[in-house]
Amino acid sequence: MTQADIIINRLCDLQGTNFEVTDVKVTEERIVWQVEHKSNAVFICPRCKAKLTHSHDNRWITIRDVPFGRKKCEWRVKRHRVLCTCSLNVIVEHMPFRSKHHFLTQRLVNLIEETLCSKMFTVADVARLFELDYGVVYKIDHEVLLRLIQTMQIPDPIHLSVDEKSFRKGHSYVTIVTDTDTKDVIWVSAGNKKESLDQFFIAIGPDRCAKILTVAKDLHQPYALSCQQYIPQATEVPDPFHVVQRLNRAIDESRKELSVGSFMPVSKRRVVSNMQWVLRYKKENMKEGHLESLEALSKINEPLYKAYLHKEVFYEFFEFKINQVQEAQNFLIQWCVDAFKIGLKALTDFAQYLTRHTQLLLNIVKTQRNSAISEGINRKISVIKGMAYGYRNLQYFMLKIMQRCGVLGSLWKPAFH
Ligand SMILES: [Zn+2]
Repeated sequence: MTQADIIINRLCDLQGTNFEVTDVKVTEERIVWQVEHKSNAVFICPRCKAKLTHSHDNRWITIRDVPFGRKKCEWRVKRHRVLCTCSLNVIVEHMPFRSKHHFLTQRLVNLIEETLCSKMFTVADVARLFELDYGVVYKIDHEVLLRLIQTMQIPDPIHLSVDEKSFRKGHSYVTIVTDTDTKDVIWVSAGNKKESLDQFFIAIGPDRCAKILTVAKDLHQPYALSCQQYIPQATEVPDPFHVVQRLNRAIDESRKELSVGSFMPVSKRRVVSNMQWVLRYKKENMKEGHLESLEALSKINEPLYKAYLHKEVFYEFFEFKINQVQEAQNFLIQWCVDAFKIGLKALTDFAQYLTRHTQLLLNIVKTQRNSAISEGINRKISVIKGMAYGYRNLQYFMLKIMQRCGVLGSLWKPAFH
């Protein structure tokens, strides 16, 4: 073997194997390496790793390798099948460079896994980048996530946030637990029942449960029961994100209340009906067109306009500092009193909800919790849902949340063979 042969084999990571490069073809767009057994061939049984001197049959296969600059790389491999005493079947020999499940080299699979785990690319991006079929990259992604989840460290959070997310347009749910200090999703389980959250507390064990100080969540009854059982010491904090969501819903219902079945002329009613999205914006985020619609609303429908302005005032509640709990409480009471005066049913309901849970809401001020984390995670999950395969496989959907919104894969290592 010449010095050049040795270098070429090393470039292909074939040193130490019983394969070698026997030829190479280079064209404008691709490099094709021809790979065969060395002349003193031994064939390794993939099951028992026995070294055999004879093969049953052989044929040429093509597998993809990591690209070389802008050139695609392919290996034409003379692949043998062996008949070993460990089984009575003819089976494909062990090839250390080939990935188990795909017509790709293992080092290409490693590169794809690492690219996917960088969180910078979606499955579709990676498929385009490497010019591979979407389905193949999807399978690699699913496999690597399954492998990594088994080696993940047990989380040890102090402050939690629990939320439910719909999967397949509301037909089923997943429960998502976030560490609010690191802002990472640390747990996802199927369903939104008490058992779904129980699973998390059981997994981290009683010692870690005892260290949890606060838990932010929507006032969803099954989760409350689970928290009472496993982390009775933790302070319950409503998630500001959900409070704001509820308020937006109340404004939207008030809008419906006023536009459907009211005595307003049709032209005016249409203005109110079309306000749905405008009313969700904070005034500071509004564009000029929206401000105009709001201006029009102020002339047509006074109660709804008042309700909108009153909604804007509510955001001030989240501005109170940790030493202003009393001020925050006074603010909340005054806000509710003013809300009752506007006299819209949905807004009154929301104010009653605030009155019922004042002490819990004040925990938001005491713990200085804000809605940024939940908002960020919600945004990322909508991206995952937009990915084609995300709809079909619940396990993949859950793993993907752990990867894109958590730390799964951030310590990626190649699989050990
Ligand atoms: Zn064998």
